[in-house]
Amino acid sequence: MLISHLHPDHCIDLTGMYVFRTYHPEGMPERPLPLYGPPRTPHRFTRMYHGLEHDAVERVFDVHTLADTARIEVGPLTVTAYAVQHPVEAYGFRVEPPAACSPTPGTPTPAPI
Ligand SMILES: [Zn+2]
Repeated sequence: MLISHLHPDHCIDLTGMYVFRTYHPEGMPERPLPLYGPPRTPHRFTRMYHGLEHDAVERVFDVHTLADTARIEVGPLTVTAYAVQHPVEAYGFRVEPPAACSPTPGTPTPAPI
């Protein structure tokens, strides 16, 4: 899960994901969900979800802090975070396929729409 920044419209759904994973009828998944976000993402989450136990975030999410040009491997994809201008620290993401899927030089590309 990638969180671009900590404005609520971009991170409030973490609370729903927390509930889904914590109270799932088949039990909590064995591994925490990888979560990449700006610094203070866990702090923001605990402020949104008041009353959590002290280790609740770590039990559900495997939290990683984003930085400019941080690279994240997601299956066969590579995601690179880039700092972008916004009123708060924020990141855009470039998702790249594996090299085997990249077009070779000279390969025709679709015309822009
Ligand atoms: Zn925003």
